[in-house]
Amino acid sequence: MRQEIAEKAVEFVLREAQIKQIESLNIMFFGGEPLLCMDLLCTICQLFETKSSISSVSYSLSTNGILLNPANIEKLSKHRVYVSLSLDGAPDVQDQQRPFSDGRGSSEVLTQNIPRLLEWNPCADSRFVVTPATAGGVSNSVFWIASQGFKYITMALDYSAHWNMADLAVLKNQLKIIGKWYEQKLIDNKPIYLNCFDERISSRTKPPLGCFERCSVGIGQYSIAPSGRIYPCVQFVGDDSAHDYVIGDIHNGFDERKRSRIFELGEQEKPECSGCQLAGRCSSWCACSNWSSSGQIDRASPIVCEFERIIMPIADKIGNKLWKKRSRPFIHRFYNPAFPVLDFAEQLIVEEVPHD
Ligand code: SF4
Ligand code: SF4
Repeated sequence: MRQEIAEKAVEFVLREAQIKQIESLNIMFFGGEPLLCMDLLCTICQLFETKSSISSVSYSLSTNGILLNPANIEKLSKHRVYVSLSLDGAPDVQDQQRPFSDGRGSSEVLTQNIPRLLEWNPCADSRFVVTPATAGGVSNSVFWIASQGFKYITMALDYSAHWNMADLAVLKNQLKIIGKWYEQKLIDNKPIYLNCFDERISSRTKPPLGCFERCSVGIGQYSIAPSGRIYPCVQFVGDDSAHDYVIGDIHNGFDERKRSRIFELGEQEKPECSGCQLAGRCSSWCACSNWSSSGQIDRASPIVCEFERIIMPIADKIGNKLWKKRSRPFIHRFYNPAFPVLDFAEQLIVEEVPHD
């Protein structure tokens, strides 16, 4: 993104926030690789810090971690940027999926940078995307990531990939293995948070989220691309071509009609979910997952549906077992109303690295 676009984008976001009387903003930097533009990232933070009258502005960043060197960590810490590390999995998977241009694997650099990141912020999270090609190694990847010291692990499926029943059977076995491991971590009161199980157990122990408690695509959040075009969510940006899901630009503002239409389409009841016991619990409300796998945001994607039908029974089995045992860590995490607040506060602990 060019500096002039970045400056206009900051002005746009602040103006919109003022109009809507928003009290807190979370600015997320995504790429490509945002650390390639470290100076611009710092400029954007400074602009928010000097121009904003909003009481709370926080920052987060999604990075592949290759440039998480001491100098960059110091700069990120100055602005208290919460870092989310995007990995492909254990070193063998990482080296295969993300080699450098000279063919060397990238895992060696990461194994040096991960301790540095976790020393600075022990609550940094790690995200990895599972594809049909990597499904068989998911448990190894989760165990490896946890062994590096990550407490927060987010696993997402590549919904745009072509999954067949054999791939899903492989994934199911892997999820069962991870489920056993996760269950034991809960019993032992180890602070491991694995989104695929935490979210689904919560979807049973807590009331369903209202539409504005979820991401409210295009309304509660939006993404600004390097061109200045605005998209409903980062997943829609792609190659930043002016496609049907552009909801405005920073020069002319939102196309409110399109913005509302996309939000309403995403929220619409899905006919294929009518009568399903998992409706209200499953993630078929995520417009992006539906769109990236089927090209439609108002229909539940078949792969989302298959995945939910695989993972929900595994999560429920863990929940039933631990409830019967009256496991205290389990009850605290999933039934104590104060837990999400305590947990959220802990997650945002991002301290400034002191100068030597
Ligand atoms: S996507 Fe599938 S599992 Fe989810 S609610 Fe709809 S029918 Fe049920
Ligand atoms: S991926 Fe889904 S849940 Fe995430 S921001 Fe986009 S629409 Fe919302």
